[in-house]
Amino acid sequence: MTDVSMTIGGEAVATEGTFGVLNPATAEVFAEAPECSRAQLDAAMDAAAKAFPAWRADEDARRACLREAAGVLLASLEELAPLLTAEQGKPLNDANLEIFGSAMWCTYFADLEVPRQIIQDDDEALVEVVNRPLGVVAAITPWNFPVNLAFWKIAPALLAGNTMVLKPSPFTPLSTLKAGELLRSILPPGVLNVVSGGDDLGAWMTGHPVPRKISFTGSIETGKLVAAAAAPDLKRVTLELGGNDPAIILDDADPAAVVDGIFGGAFANNGQICSAIKRVYVPERMYDEVVEALAARAKAITVGDGTEIGTRLGPINNAPQFARVSELVADALAHGARAAAGGRAMDRPGYFFEPTVLSGVSDGVRIVDEEQFGPALPVISYRDVDDAVDRANATHFGLSGSVWGTDTDRATEVAGRLEAGTAWVNVHLALGPQFPFGGFKWSGIGVENGPWGLAEFTEIQTVHRSRTTSGLSPVTSMVVP
Ligand code: NAD
Repeated sequence: MTDVSMTIGGEAVATEGTFGVLNPATAEVFAEAPECSRAQLDAAMDAAAKAFPAWRADEDARRACLREAAGVLLASLEELAPLLTAEQGKPLNDANLEIFGSAMWCTYFADLEVPRQIIQDDDEALVEVVNRPLGVVAAITPWNFPVNLAFWKIAPALLAGNTMVLKPSPFTPLSTLKAGELLRSILPPGVLNVVSGGDDLGAWMTGHPVPRKISFTGSIETGKLVAAAAAPDLKRVTLELGGNDPAIILDDADPAAVVDGIFGGAFANNGQICSAIKRVYVPERMYDEVVEALAARAKAITVGDGTEIGTRLGPINNAPQFARVSELVADALAHGARAAAGGRAMDRPGYFFEPTVLSGVSDGVRIVDEEQFGPALPVISYRDVDDAVDRANATHFGLSGSVWGTDTDRATEVAGRLEAGTAWVNVHLALGPQFPFGGFKWSGIGVENGPWGLAEFTEIQTVHRSRTTSGLSPVTSMVVP
């Protein structure tokens, strides 16, 4: 049993109800998480609203808090990382990296300048464009990188002067709640409130009158519900949604040189990354070689409990996702695909699925057309690169994609034709706090990270200071006799 509490107004808050959190390596409940009531959500929103005026007023204090937050996260690695592994399933080493990355996001934003541009400075006027905070931000996160994706929101939103109510996924609430506890000693009460509960709580947040902005990361299906809930109140939204990232190997690529990058891009975090490679397009002449090289890596990788030394891939995080991956792989096999590696669930407790490489599969089969979000990679052959690009783009998804080849200028030209928020060349999943990240089409609205992500937590205000003595502008002077 893990004892973590919600944070509202800087205090630990007890709840009447709790819900069980499973360890995906055993499929057994190992902890209870607090279940936020509607009244407690109101209290969290109220606390965030009350904290806003003082928080927005002191930029230096905000930067200092983010720097301190980075230090606290790093100092708490031994507490946070095992909790993350227990609820998410990822190997302990990956959990450590996730906490480390969260600290990195805090440090990056602590030092990032909030833009302030002077667009006119003459006898007539001094006109500045200033980014103002929005107020209270409702932040909702998924279960694949619960802590890091929370800090993709916390760091820029707080730096910009907003306050926040944050809700992690019900599958992985504990590490985020724990991070909220750790930051209580740093942040003024109400600046960051962390609540937990089921999907209903997310819907209450998006329909709540207090937040001016919803920052959401999750599935396309839920993203559309969030957009609809935001509309009546014209809340601002940033939506980071699902992807079905293509990787295209060009005919001049050296298969031996690219296959590690492709394998890592597809199977990192057990394939549970929005921008993981989810389909690979390979020229016919090197198809068999690439399939076998990927399959060899899939067969060799150590899958196991994330707490065991040597584990490189953990279980799938939860039962519905495990069922989905199982279903999509079974559907592909039923439609003539061959499992060059894996192809089924592992015979052990927990949500373990064999790392799977599928050949003989093409567009029109569900695992190619839909987002599998798990350890199963379809490999598709092509003859003509223009056709491969068309097939890569023939989807509602548009998160990211990569192109692999020896002539990097040509690969870059092809990558530029991908309809995706990020186009990588000879790499995949190169992410960082400085790189704007977002989706085209149904993969999202807006971006996170970098100054562009920071701007999404602000409204632009034009501050026009007249230097004329008459107080008249070209428009107002027209009616003055
Ligand atoms: P999900 O949409 O089921 O849930 C995400 C969050 O939304 C959870 O906290 C959930 O409780 C909450 N939620 C559910 N219903 C809601 C509602 N009606 N209103 C408000 N909130 C609600 O997604 P998931 O299964 O947790 O995550 C996997 C998905 O997230 C995948 O599609 C993946 O591609 C996507 N994802 C995208 C990014 C990105 O940056 N683009 C990053 C990670 C994951």
